[in-house]
Amino acid sequence: MEESMIQVLGCKKEPLLMNYLGLPLSCNKLGLADWAPTIARVDKYLSGWELSLLSYSERITLINAVLNAVPIYSMCAYILPASIIHAIDKKRRAFLWTGEDKCSGAKCLVAWEQVCKPKQEGGLGIRCLRTQNKALILKKLCDLTNDTSPWASWIWQEYENDTINNRKSLGHHWRQIQSLVHNLQLLTKVSVGNGKRTSFREDKWIGDQPLSEKFPALFSHVTQTTTTLHTMHTEGLQANLLHRLTRQAVVEQQSAQHILGELQLQGTDDVRITEERKITSSKYFYNKLLTHQENCKNFAFTWQNKAPLKGQFFTWLATKDRLPTKYNLHYKNIVPTPNCDLCNHQQETATHILLTCPFAVAFWRAIQINPGITSTTNLYRIRPYAPLPAQHYQVFFILCFWLLWNHRHEIVFTNEQPSLHRILRAAISNCTLWIQRLNQSDIAALEPAWRGIFNSAITRLG
Ligand SMILES: [Zn+2]
Repeated sequence: MEESMIQVLGCKKEPLLMNYLGLPLSCNKLGLADWAPTIARVDKYLSGWELSLLSYSERITLINAVLNAVPIYSMCAYILPASIIHAIDKKRRAFLWTGEDKCSGAKCLVAWEQVCKPKQEGGLGIRCLRTQNKALILKKLCDLTNDTSPWASWIWQEYENDTINNRKSLGHHWRQIQSLVHNLQLLTKVSVGNGKRTSFREDKWIGDQPLSEKFPALFSHVTQTTTTLHTMHTEGLQANLLHRLTRQAVVEQQSAQHILGELQLQGTDDVRITEERKITSSKYFYNKLLTHQENCKNFAFTWQNKAPLKGQFFTWLATKDRLPTKYNLHYKNIVPTPNCDLCNHQQETATHILLTCPFAVAFWRAIQINPGITSTTNLYRIRPYAPLPAQHYQVFFILCFWLLWNHRHEIVFTNEQPSLHRILRAAISNCTLWIQRLNQSDIAALEPAWRGIFNSAITRLG
């Protein structure tokens, strides 16, 4: 039949694959090649930027504002294959650490998993694409309950008197999305209307846990696992149970029967809401899906200040001892010796170059301010004291660390000699620039104090 139609019409047989509203559309499972345009869009941005001229902070801004956004449109509709996420991540990672589209592991200063953690937990806050993809699809699934769009109507037609937990052959795309239904039920509650879009057993429609968790013995005796709340309310619990129940199941049945008896259904549709009873958003799902770690002690010192992003990023690396110091580069076999170029006999770590190198010690003594810590992993312990005003003291310390680090570059890369006069003069000019980020009243109060600290140091040195 098919062959004869091809002969009559004189056409070729091709698989259905087309682009519809910018997304690949096919009857079959999409192949990796179908996602090539998404990767090509990332490449298009990268090739349009003057990569080698961008600083770390500019790259972070571009990753967050542009590269993260490229796959979002596709991720709202599809669960991207792991290899495609990996390919985009490789490009984001290389762009962050080298400003190029490829990089070796030795050039990555911090593991990518760590980079993708929230700043509060010691990461750089760059979005994890895998998690973001899930969050966007969960939002889509949530809209399915709350929406009256043609897509939602079609799905609910297929699932009349049934819950979306039920496996139906509605195609590969739906099967993929359906794999997240369990997460949806874990992360949301249902404000019950007519009960037609709510699972009696798996949704959290009364209290903070689904009935399957509350009554495990009872639910091991049900005949149909995907019954809606509406059906259960209409048919009664008994109609959905096996004839013989264990003693525990009988006890649980009485409690469940009581809950069902109290339930009054409304004429309106069910509404899916967050655990805090708010409207759901993809941001809510993203935060819930992240595996949260303990809060990072250095978070406030590093990020909750008005220092420029380049200073904050540098501080973030220093708190992890991941600055490209001689010690770290020697560990990766990039330089022959781990020793500091300023003092020539101790290993150059972040703590050494910013706190304990004789040059750093002389700098802090010259400005008569002591950070009062023994390691850069403990920057959160720094406290302000006279003559340094307490306001924005983090910016002042980040500036000083930044100056020490740049002074180190002058010695390593341009063969200058260490000089307190030079670093203090650089401090005065940089302080004028950095302080412009504060509001006018803070500038008026702090600029004379900060400049005074550096000027006095120059005067004392003579
Ligand atoms: Zn040193």
